[in-house]
Amino acid sequence: MGKPNGPCWWCLKAVKWIPVVFILTVVFWSYYAYVVQLCYYAIESYVQKAFYLFFFHILFLLFLWSYWQTVFTDLGRVPDKFRIPPAEMEKLQQPVSEEAQRQILEQFAQDLPITNRTIKGAIRFCEKCQLIKPDRAHHCSVCGTCVLKMDHHCPWVNNCVGFHNYKFFMLFLAYALLYCMFIAGTSLEYFVKFWKGQLDGVGKFHLLFLFCVALMFAVSLTSLFFYHCYLILHNRSTLEAFRPPMFRTGKDKDGFSLGRYNNFQEVFGDNSRLWFLPVFTSLGDGNVYPVRSQHQVGSNTYNSMGSTQNSFGDGVTFPERLCDEDTHTLLGEPQRWGDEAELDSPPLSGSRSALLS
Ligand SMILES: [Zn+2]
Ligand SMILES: [Zn+2]
Repeated sequence: MGKPNGPCWWCLKAVKWIPVVFILTVVFWSYYAYVVQLCYYAIESYVQKAFYLFFFHILFLLFLWSYWQTVFTDLGRVPDKFRIPPAEMEKLQQPVSEEAQRQILEQFAQDLPITNRTIKGAIRFCEKCQLIKPDRAHHCSVCGTCVLKMDHHCPWVNNCVGFHNYKFFMLFLAYALLYCMFIAGTSLEYFVKFWKGQLDGVGKFHLLFLFCVALMFAVSLTSLFFYHCYLILHNRSTLEAFRPPMFRTGKDKDGFSLGRYNNFQEVFGDNSRLWFLPVFTSLGDGNVYPVRSQHQVGSNTYNSMGSTQNSFGDGVTFPERLCDEDTHTLLGEPQRWGDEAELDSPPLSGSRSALLS
């Protein structure tokens, strides 16, 4: 990668926008094909034209709005309290023992609201950003920063999907799927007419491709959309689905799960009128998440964090009963301080790599 603001850096930045430009090109061509070629030229009935155009425009606007929000939402930054002061950083970079470095991190992090650990049970630390990673945050090497509740880096939106835009990403998938299904469903009749030779002119090819492209996108979006529905209901990010989060008490893939409805509300908020609009309504501040009661240690509990509780609003409570429901999943699993490296931590030199990896 080139130097920031150098020619290579700008080239790379431009290349990353190609998938977004591709998506927008397909979307605006589909608009032309549907509105002009299908509704204006091919359909004869005025009632049918009006009905199709009305629903098409609603879906088109919701889809573009969600997409815009997913692409342009700022990822936010990790609060300063998680940043390691230069003096502590210097101590960490000195070749002291693994145990000494563990102590330095433990001491610095003792007042921070974190429950996640590395697989070795150490405090999660990002050397590049020089900070203690908040729970569920990971470093994205494409964005070059730690992202709160990082789900994955999506090239199709040229942005990370994380705490601040996960709801927008889900709505983008949902409206994209509905948009494609609506187009495929309403243009099917003209697709059939094309093969029967009942359509004339160049416009018939637009109608043929419109149906095929809509169907193709609908098929590929379906599995992605339902996979993320599953993740939301289980309160897991894509990264956590591949590698369960580590707590002091061990690995627990359902460590953040608070029951399906609460999990849904954590992403979509507690105001049902705003659930389906791409405006930010996710609960919490992105730094602290309620965890199941067996992971709550000392001050790192949801109930003891006044500021976080306030930001969750009073409409939602996360009853402990729900958190305790499936304790057996944890008891059933042997507690392991794992042997694999943490997914996103950069390898460090010397003894630190063992501690901080
Ligand atoms: Zn980082
Ligand atoms: Zn990223």
